[in-house]
Amino acid sequence: MNILAVDTSCDETAVAVTDGTKVITNVVWSQASLHAKWGGVVPSLAQRQHEERIDWVIKRAIGENKIDAVAVTEGPGLAIALGVGIGKAKELARKWGVPIVGVNHIEGHILSALANNEKVPNFPAVAMAISGKHTELIYVERIGRYKILARTTDDALGEALDKAARMLGLGYPGGAVLEKMAKLGNPKAYPLPLPMAGREDRGEFSYSGLKTAFWRLTNNKDLSRQDVYDLAASFQDMAFKHLIRISKNVLSDYQVKDILVGGGVAANVELRKRIRKMAKELGIKTWFPYSKKLYGDNAAMIGVVAGFKAKEGRFDEPENIDRKPRWTVNDV
Ligand code: ZN
Repeated sequence: MNILAVDTSCDETAVAVTDGTKVITNVVWSQASLHAKWGGVVPSLAQRQHEERIDWVIKRAIGENKIDAVAVTEGPGLAIALGVGIGKAKELARKWGVPIVGVNHIEGHILSALANNEKVPNFPAVAMAISGKHTELIYVERIGRYKILARTTDDALGEALDKAARMLGLGYPGGAVLEKMAKLGNPKAYPLPLPMAGREDRGEFSYSGLKTAFWRLTNNKDLSRQDVYDLAASFQDMAFKHLIRISKNVLSDYQVKDILVGGGVAANVELRKRIRKMAKELGIKTWFPYSKKLYGDNAAMIGVVAGFKAKEGRFDEPENIDRKPRWTVNDV
């Protein structure tokens, strides 16, 4: 069954065609450069861009493929941006006379590692969704049944990396540039505080304290190129150390065999290395998406989730599909 999947939850207009876990096409039109001068995503600008681009992205994704069902992200995300994809998905399902299914964006990140993958993980498993918007550790009882074990109390990891990059004058979104700079620097060059040290048992991620400490090190300072490398390395090191420390603490309470990792920040090579190392120490197998295009926001992962729902005949009444800006995976 070929599914046309649509995701307009943030600043990427994404459309894909999938069949089960197989990715047939995966088109992402990113608006990041348009939002760059504002230093963050402007919702009204995102909405307008989605409206202008969506027909073109859909046409490219469909190509010659026959479509049997439509899937669309209902949330979480920016309400007015989500509305564009939902409106278009309903319109197409009606026009073609095919069923429609609503999908949770984070569930998409959780299952993104299953795209183009014949194998299935052992359940229960755990998942890590790490992006510019989310930092969550999730218990996966089975596909479609989730419980958040730990989440951030302030910034998401990707958001913190972007902000640190901005403080170093690396532009927005700067997480990927920060990663490059960090490779050239000494991660021990600057003393930064380890967030939630001694409070690991609370199972919370927090990046605001680290960000403030970083601001003090960088604000109004004349930084050499090597200083920038060292600062990038020091920030990234501590941000990742915190993520791993809390995750390891939480995961040691659960007897699981597999961990599914997804989200744009998981594309960071150093972070993946540390997640693999942590998982190995806990005796857990890691699952990562097969391609870089499945890490950041995309619609192929939405199609994969929809594929599992379709298999069980779990489609929605079109009138019940709506924007759910704060929808968590606890309630899918
Ligand atoms: Zn996302």
